[in-house]
Amino acid sequence: MGFFSFVQDIAIDLGTANTIIISDDKIVVDEPSVIALDRRTDKMIAVGNEAKMMYEKTHENIRTIRPLRDGVIADFSACEQMMRGLIKMVHVGNRLFSPSLRMVIGVPSGSTEVELRAVRDSAEHANGRDIYLIFEPMAAAIGIGIDVDAPEGNMIVDIGGGTTDVAVISLGGTVESDSIKVAGDDFDNAIVRYMRLKYNMLVGDRTAEDIKINIGTAFKREEIDYMDVRGRNLVTGLPETVRVSSEETQEALKETTTQILDTICSVLERTPPELAGDIVDRGIVLTGGGAMLRGLEELIEERTHINTMTADEPMTCVAIGTGKYIEFLAGHNQI
Ligand code: ADP
Ligand code: MG
Repeated sequence: MGFFSFVQDIAIDLGTANTIIISDDKIVVDEPSVIALDRRTDKMIAVGNEAKMMYEKTHENIRTIRPLRDGVIADFSACEQMMRGLIKMVHVGNRLFSPSLRMVIGVPSGSTEVELRAVRDSAEHANGRDIYLIFEPMAAAIGIGIDVDAPEGNMIVDIGGGTTDVAVISLGGTVESDSIKVAGDDFDNAIVRYMRLKYNMLVGDRTAEDIKINIGTAFKREEIDYMDVRGRNLVTGLPETVRVSSEETQEALKETTTQILDTICSVLERTPPELAGDIVDRGIVLTGGGAMLRGLEELIEERTHINTMTADEPMTCVAIGTGKYIEFLAGHNQI
């Protein structure tokens, strides 16, 4: 950014679970994609962490919304308000005026024209002047430090909250890709279902997420972990505690992880042989918060026989890549 410039560059990873904003190569906002609205006026009461704390605990006059569901904008006006609220956090304290913004925004690879238009409109209404969009798997690849312009195939599997994006990238473009609406949130839902079926127990989404993060596994492990889980017995209606094992989570998650595996395999099958050869040599890279589920790498390796690794900073690499993309803009086709 030039000294006298009134334009500021920001990069936004608008995720279903978390929104990250990067400015001057630094993460300046990292908040859950949640907003709390006044039910009567539809005015924003809180955004991000503050709004997430209100989640599932609101009274009749406040409602909390996750504007992005399944990787797409489910509630346009809420999304716009959320973007405004989060962008405001970037400016607090360091400016007397709000500059116009050059924005780069990461979008899921499966986005339709209408969805892309919606993201663009929201960004414009949130003070964006020049707006660029980048597909998230490409951003993830740049964020990891892969030379996306090289004539080599790389496979990125980004498992977020709402969507899993699988993409093969070569020569600055996406050669093959697929996006399914199955990801981290579905792991939680699968655990909720399992607890109900096996123990007649009702557990909340947050408890299910805790189970996943603490003891969840996608693949058999030698060491078995346990966690005491509290919920409500659906027969007696009373609160109770049961001890759940990591082996049980593997069973609970099997169907969901299989859907992700199937998508990876179908993208591999459609990949031209030379590029598929590159992927065998270079391995598959996992990104996104969902990639932190234990055992996913082993599960993918068992099925594909391709070396698989999770990126160092799986939850921020899309945002970091989106930030770096500002510098790349000139050389790439824009969407
Ligand atoms: P999005 O890009 O859609 O906002 P993220 O990449 O931020 O999604 O990932 C969010 C998902 O990651 C959530 O489903 C969350 O439960 C999951 N997650 C976060 N930490 C872990 C962990 N340690 N193990 C497994 N899943 C995790
Ligand atoms: Mg993401």
